[in-house]
Parts: sequence; structure tokens; C-alpha cells
Amino acid sequence: MSTAATTALPDALGRAAREFIVSEHGLLIGDQRPQAADGRTFATLDPATGSEIAKVPQAGAQDVDRAVETARTALEQSPWATLAPSERGRLIAALADTVEAHQEELAEIESLDNGKPVKLAQYVNVRGTVAHLRYFAGWPTKIEGSVLPVTAPNMLCYTRREPVGVCAQIVPWNFPLLMATWKVAPALAAGCTIVLKPAEQTPLSALRLGELALEVGFPPGVLGVLTGDGETGAALVDHPGVDKISFTGSTVVGREIGAKAGCALKRVTLELGGKSPNIILPDADIDAAVKGSYQAIYFNSGQACNAGSRLFVPAERYDEVISALAERAAATRLGPGLDQQTQLGPLISAEQQERVMGYIEAGRSEGAEIVCGGAPTLEDSGGYYVQPTLFSSTSDDLSIAREEIFGPVLVASPYSTLEEVAARANAGEYGLAAGVWTRDVGSAHRLAAMLRAGSIYINHWGGSDPSAPFGGFKASGVGREHGHDGLDAYLETKTVWTSLA
Ligand code: ADP
Repeated sequence: MSTAATTALPDALGRAAREFIVSEHGLLIGDQRPQAADGRTFATLDPATGSEIAKVPQAGAQDVDRAVETARTALEQSPWATLAPSERGRLIAALADTVEAHQEELAEIESLDNGKPVKLAQYVNVRGTVAHLRYFAGWPTKIEGSVLPVTAPNMLCYTRREPVGVCAQIVPWNFPLLMATWKVAPALAAGCTIVLKPAEQTPLSALRLGELALEVGFPPGVLGVLTGDGETGAALVDHPGVDKISFTGSTVVGREIGAKAGCALKRVTLELGGKSPNIILPDADIDAAVKGSYQAIYFNSGQACNAGSRLFVPAERYDEVISALAERAAATRLGPGLDQQTQLGPLISAEQQERVMGYIEAGRSEGAEIVCGGAPTLEDSGGYYVQPTLFSSTSDDLSIAREEIFGPVLVASPYSTLEEVAARANAGEYGLAAGVWTRDVGSAHRLAAMLRAGSIYINHWGGSDPSAPFGGFKASGVGREHGHDGLDAYLETKTVWTSLA
């Protein structure tokens, strides 16, 4: 095992995570760990310092070919093809157990690669991964077809639910391991095979997940991992051997993938951007609403597709809410993810920091008032930090109020009536999530029905469970992940007709 050229890794990193990070990283194709066929590599950086953590291969078209062919062979000819459903479930459960056993290591890898607080990485990314694997481990033995009451006499007609085939799964950098598992777990439960492509900013935890899957006994080729960038992702999307594409990422790339999938008639699931409205009603418990609204936007430094990035506050309670939120935001401790005291980590990259600062400048110049934050911070560290920022604006037409920023930037605005706020909340191209804070059950559920979004959070923000469908209305996506819907996205229905005459 050779050592990659890295700058010093943080002292807080435990032994297991350190050993993995300094090991030589290859792609995962079958049970091989090759370098890219053309020898290209790229560096993954620590967002808290900007220094290199490790080098990983940059997979090109030849590697994509090989990985897809290997996944096809595993689908059709390996023991996976005929494995009993109970055994498939057992393997998924075994992967859950081993991820749980490695939770500290995985959380540290995730925290270092992504910048998020290590406790958040452990609680959300890693334990969420375990929960999703355990939930989907129960599914293989419950995938059933049905016998149909057809009109034709002497005819037996039944359905089979079969794996959709080879799946290209392309994931983003904001919750790397969890976003991968949201796709991997149902695909495995359905009996598919997978070529997983993590984001170029955060390639490490997917490589570790792939290794652990081999260790627990998944046949080689069932879960392949290709590290690379958008070019690698595009080659996977274009590959004729791919039956289904599952993508989480930006709406721009999602539109492109959706168009390609449409042309090639590949199955596709898209989980895209958001600009989610969070509505406080006049009778709400204001302390709880402020606390929840803070979490809704600043959790994971605002780098969540379902971030509550537009806050609507009744005019009569506006000043009270805004000053309480600003106080909380200003008191936030920013720092590197591996520091146990850190509440908010850096943004993922210099590019993202620049993009977020560009929006902040646009907000200022378009006339929104900055209530707090609005600047980069901890600049001596070399990390990509931006202060939690709160804008106040009466207009919904500003770019900061319409476009997804994917950073710690909240735009608050006053409103007068329920109908007005529902219409303003529904304006815009996105429809991923929406929140309502109230003690009035009637208003809560009236609004829940009026809001055009895939998830509605009442008196909290961000509920998530492997059994609860998640996905977007409008430009926020196509299809759902989690639960029955999430499993269905990896199954084809075959109808079998038998003449009994
Ligand atoms: P972001 O802007 O947040 O980085 P992207 O949508 O660009 O989001 O990236 C999400 C994932 O999609 C990453 O794994 C990235 O490498 C991949 N990706 C980017 N461009 C393409 C593309 N044209 N085709 C397929 N995958 C892509």
C-alpha cells in the first residue's frame, strides 16, 4: 500500500480514518481497484483549510465501459442474479451492521472531505445510512406481483416485479454517504446492480462503502464505484448499457440528464434544487419557530436541497422574529468539522464560497437589507467559510429570493394573510419542501394542502425517514426516493399471460 501525497492531516483524525485516507485509492470495478485507464487523478481538498486530503482516479470513458460491463455481468451471470431474496436482504443488513461498526471512521472521513461537523456526519450521514440499509434489507422478501382478474377465459395472468437492471447513480457532495445510500439501498433491495459516482468534491466515503460491501460478501460487480467529475457522470448517463439513471444534484444538470434519459428511454429519477418557503403563522410558538427556522437554513451550512431559504413572517411579529434569528445566527460557532465545538463548517469549495458571496453581493445591490452576516470569515485558515447571513426584503423578485443559493443565506419577508403567503410560497420554479409553524391544526393542514411541494414540515423542519417518500414537485425533481415509491423506482413490472385451455 503506497502513501498518497498529502499535506498533514488534522490531529483529530482517528487511526482507522487516517489509514484509509492515506491508502492508495483506486476505482472499484468488480473486485479490482484499478487506477483510471488513462492514468488521470484529481485531488480532494479539506474545505476547512483548502489543502489536499488525497488523490483519487479520474474515471474516463474506458473505465465507465468496464464498470458498466462488469455490472451487467453481475446482474445476469453472477450469484447475485439468482440469489434468494432472503439472502439479498441478509447481505444488505450485513452492510448496515458493518457501516454501524465503522461509524466513527466513516463520520471522520465524511467530515474531513465535506467540512461538516463530525457529530452531524455521524448522526445524519452515517446513522442515516444504517437506517436506510436496515429498512431496505426488509424489502427483498416482500416484493410481490399479483394474479390479475382478466376477462379472457382459461387464462392465468400475473405480474412479476423484476430489477430494472444496471443503475448509474450520481450523487452530490452535501451528504455524500447518505445520498449514495438513498440510491444504493433500494437498488440492492430490488436486485439491481450499480455503478455509483460520488461527487468530485467528496469521493472518499463512497469508495469506503464499496469496499465494505465487498467485505460483507456482495458479489463483485454488484456495487461499483467510479470517482470522477461531471465528464465521468455524463459518460455514465450516455452509456447504452445503463438501464436506469438516478441523480441528485443541481437543476441545471438534472434537466440535461432528464433530456438524455428521455431520448434514450432510460428510466430516471431526479432529485434537484429547491428554494423552500418556511411560513410562521401569527399564533405560532415563536421560540420554537425561530429555533426551527435557524436549523432549516443554517443546518449543514445551508448546503441542503430542502433548506428553508425563504422565511415568511406575519408583519405584526416580524421585528421580534428577525431580531431573535439574527441573535442566534450571530452567536454561531464556525470552524473545521473535526473540531467538536464547531456548529457550522465551511462551505464545500472556493467555488461555492465565491458563488454564495456573489449572491450576497447581488442581494445588497438589488436592495435587500442585511440583518446579520454577509461576509467570508476565518480567512486565515484557508477554509471556505461564510457567516450565517440574514436578509430582510419585502420583494420576492430579487435573485436571492428566487434562486437556489446552497449556502447559509436566509431571506425573510413580512406578509399579511394566509392566502397571500400561500401564493408567494408557491411562486417560483421549485417545489421540494415547505414549512408551517402554527398551533392551529386547521390552518396547518389547509396550508399543507395549498403548498406545492413534495414535503411539508409542520412545527419542525426536515423530518426524514427511510419509509417516508422524498422528492420534488415542479423543477425540484422527478420521482421519489425512500419507502415503497423509492423501491418501485428500481423495479419493472412484467405481465405474464398463460393460456390454460
Ligand atoms: P453542484 O453544482 O452542486 O456540484 P452538480 O449537479 O454539478 O451539482 O453535481 C452533482 C453530481 O453530478 C456530481 O457527482 C457531479 O460530478 C455530477 N455531474 C455534473 N455534471 C454532470 C453531467 N453533465 N452529467 C452527469 N453528471 C454530472
